[in-house]
Amino acid sequence: MTAPLDVLVVGAGPTGLALAAQLRTYGASFRIVDRSVDRVRESRALAIQPRTLEALAPFGVTDELIERGNPAMQLRMHLPRRVVQLPLFDIGLTDTAYPFLLFLSQAETESVLSEHLRDQDVDVERGTELVGLERTGSSVTCRLRSGDGSEEAVAATYVVGCDGAHSTVRAQAGIGFEGYAYPQTFLLADLEVDGLEPDAVHTYMTGAGVLFFFPLGSPATWRMLTMRPSDAPDTQVNLGLLQEITDGYAGDRLALRDPVWMTDFRLHNRGAARYRSGPFFLAGDAAHIHSPAGAQGMNTGIQDALNLGWKLALVSQGRAPEGWLGTYEAERAPVGRSVLRFTDRAFTIGTSSNPVIRFARTRLAPRLAPLALRATRPRGLVFRTVSELGIHYRHGPATTAGPQHPRRGPRAGDRLPDLPRGLQARTAGPGWHLLLSGPSALWSDELLASVLMGRDDLVDVHRLGDESPWRPVTHGLVRPDGYLGYVARGTHLEGLRAYLDRWLPAQRV
Ligand SMILES: Cc1cc2nc3c(=O)[nH]c(=O)nc-3n(C[C@H](O)[C@H](O)[C@H](O)COP(=O)(O)OP(=O)(O)OC[C@H]3O[C@@H](n4cnc5c(N)ncnc54)[C@H](O)[C@@H]3O)c2cc1C
Repeated sequence: MTAPLDVLVVGAGPTGLALAAQLRTYGASFRIVDRSVDRVRESRALAIQPRTLEALAPFGVTDELIERGNPAMQLRMHLPRRVVQLPLFDIGLTDTAYPFLLFLSQAETESVLSEHLRDQDVDVERGTELVGLERTGSSVTCRLRSGDGSEEAVAATYVVGCDGAHSTVRAQAGIGFEGYAYPQTFLLADLEVDGLEPDAVHTYMTGAGVLFFFPLGSPATWRMLTMRPSDAPDTQVNLGLLQEITDGYAGDRLALRDPVWMTDFRLHNRGAARYRSGPFFLAGDAAHIHSPAGAQGMNTGIQDALNLGWKLALVSQGRAPEGWLGTYEAERAPVGRSVLRFTDRAFTIGTSSNPVIRFARTRLAPRLAPLALRATRPRGLVFRTVSELGIHYRHGPATTAGPQHPRRGPRAGDRLPDLPRGLQARTAGPGWHLLLSGPSALWSDELLASVLMGRDDLVDVHRLGDESPWRPVTHGLVRPDGYLGYVARGTHLEGLRAYLDRWLPAQRV
């Protein structure tokens, strides 16, 4: 009888592909299956947030994503008599190498991730559907069905449902998916538009709603997104209908042509009641679905995956305690809930027919937005939230602030900022990274060896000297996903030792 796989990844959308990349890096035994025979060719999600670009950088794919994408920096709000131009992401974000929203179709994002997996000899098994799960002792028997109808039983220690909104894993694990559907129907098209300035997001706001054009590049130059007007015919989406709606917002200034994809869809706001049930985990759309407002969906899914993969791999290999698996839900479920709240608010403001909100949307917002954007602090807060750079695990179970906390710089639970620039690249290798600030001589090799003995193969030490994000002398431990698990001032390492004994126990020889 063959040993169970460490992990079966169900679903090869952006979440499953990112999870597979991390499982590969950390040497887990796994398979990744997807019931569709081909990857997604439509754009669907169209923007990658700065934090996702950072999180994917250790796999060496971020430069390729940027190369293929369009870092649009401007939002152009079209009002009846003028156009207000606003920076989308800008100077507020100094601690990232990627201070922009990257427009790139989901198909391209998946293509870059798939090519990376292929280079790593990972076979994405397409045309293979998960049809059943059964717990058998310490593992799970997973029934997989191929396109020809044949079935195979595979044993796995853990199963991760990256299988989207209608997740089979979620259903089989008996996890609820609570929430509601919005009443509106949305129209989406990837197409060419004559009359739009390139390299900007365009919005047209009226009392009826909002019309967006996003710069997509491929498979078409523009993504159009709007609500189906209540008086529009309930026909299949066609170019004539889209042109009519566009004329209602923009007069006769824009001409639509050459659509490569047109569809209509309803939106939901739902979250999984739990992200884990025993050996079953949920990530991405299987755990949360919401409106595309703010371009959070795919980004949150990829970051779920990158929170989970290294934990599953190291626990499976006996290099990290089981307790890490409980931290997944504790850290990611609050992020999922806050995305549901945030996108719901943005959605309501964009679509409500309530007269007060309509007035705010069409009259106040265009006037106030430029003023608000000049206010550095609120602008920074908004950008940090939307860019997902503000996500932190300060209150998570695997986060410890040492007895003395540095006065400046990132705190335990925060993402490691890329400040000074290049710090994230220096700490991008697999495993943990111990950052030591202040003069090198303060950190004796003997002291460090005694703290790291039995786990030094998983912890890289970086003496940062003055190039540290902290003042005064501080030490901080960066987790494999780029978040700080432990931070303390001074050179006293007993707190760090206790943290490591709990979360990365020394290997006995
Ligand atoms: C029309 C549309 C427009 C969107 N626009 C945006 C946007 O503008 N911005 C944004 O951020 N997000 C957008 N989204 C959402 C975004 O596409 C998702 O958040 C993203 O695809 C989630 O990735 P995922 O990998 O979690 O799930 P998915 O991409 O849904 O992938 C799930 C995969 O699991 C596979 N699968 C399902 N069941 C099984 C099974 N039983 N066995 C094996 N495989 C299975 C499926 O074939 C699929 O490939 C949009 C979605 C839609 C539908």
